[in-house]
Amino acid sequence: MRLLLDLHPDDYPLEGYRRRQLLDWVFGQGVGSFAAMSTLPADLRAELERDYLLNPFREIETVRSTDGSVKYLFTLQDGRQMEAVYMPYLDRKTICVSTMVGCPAKCAFCATGAMGFGRNLTPGEVVGQILAVAGGEGLAPRELRNLVFMGMGEPLLNYEHTMNAARILLHPLALGMSKRRITLSTVGLAKGIRRLAAEDDLGLKLAISLHAPDEETRQRIIPTGAANGIGDIMEAAREYQAVTGRRLTFEYSMLRGVNDHPWQAALLADLLSGLVSHVNLIPMNPWDGSGFESSTEAEIQTFYDVLEARGVDVSVRRSRGKDAGAACGQLALKRPNAARGEARFGAV
Ligand code: SAH
Repeated sequence: MRLLLDLHPDDYPLEGYRRRQLLDWVFGQGVGSFAAMSTLPADLRAELERDYLLNPFREIETVRSTDGSVKYLFTLQDGRQMEAVYMPYLDRKTICVSTMVGCPAKCAFCATGAMGFGRNLTPGEVVGQILAVAGGEGLAPRELRNLVFMGMGEPLLNYEHTMNAARILLHPLALGMSKRRITLSTVGLAKGIRRLAAEDDLGLKLAISLHAPDEETRQRIIPTGAANGIGDIMEAAREYQAVTGRRLTFEYSMLRGVNDHPWQAALLADLLSGLVSHVNLIPMNPWDGSGFESSTEAEIQTFYDVLEARGVDVSVRRSRGKDAGAACGQLALKRPNAARGEARFGAV
């Protein structure tokens, strides 16, 4: 059976105002079943029910963190699992979604990488994460305005499905998000970045996981670095900026004794000269058996100071959701005290 959410809004199976009604039930109201779509005639609802699946998830569990972030653990129709994280801080309700089950990039310090690769998510399985989180939090789907593709998986290695998901997010009859509020985070694939730059209807914000300014260190911690040299990534980044005019974010996870030396901060500043960019220093989130630990606060401060003195726009990302295993890069499907819910999807 087809998943309705996989379709682009223009391809929804009804015509004219009926199509708009259907889209409004799904994305405006966030209802979880065709039966609840009371403005549609019963025979249409029955047809939809017969031909389409609305809810991509067999089961949804949540783990709430004391700092307010919530991890959503999804069991897909084929039994595989992946996660999203909801971060409701201040006026910026942000959702972090996955694009894959597991990840083939296998960065040495990343818990998802250690799981290996399961499969790509379909567009509907990406979009469904937003509808499910909205339903779980008692929000209308369109109230979730900030989205980051920073969960499990490498979005540029699930390129088509991720782009199709982004088009559904942006479509005014679907989620109507602003491209300024959608950030795609990539491990740094030069070809993929160039391809993304050519999607002129998208113009998403781009975050690049650089994590080291020298080849030796980068290739030690990021296997895809062997085929994607730093020079090549930076050139693709410049092209992305030239085409989209967007400020670029560079992510830099602080790994003690590996990539946190002051000379590496100076080298990073060299790399960024001439770019409008922002550097996000992320204290490493430790996990059992990773073999890495986070730089200390003092080491992070020193690194920060070198960058700041060089005029680099830099901040330290505060870690969220640590107690729920929902901190950045910790999406490895541990589920200690998960609140096991029925398969709810949206508020009916
Ligand atoms: N594949 C994409 C998006 C997913 S990871 C990418 O590589 O960007 C989101 C960010 O978290 C990346 O910068 C990633 O390198 C970082 N990350 C992963 N595990 C981490 C950990 N244990 N501690 C700190 N950052 C981590």
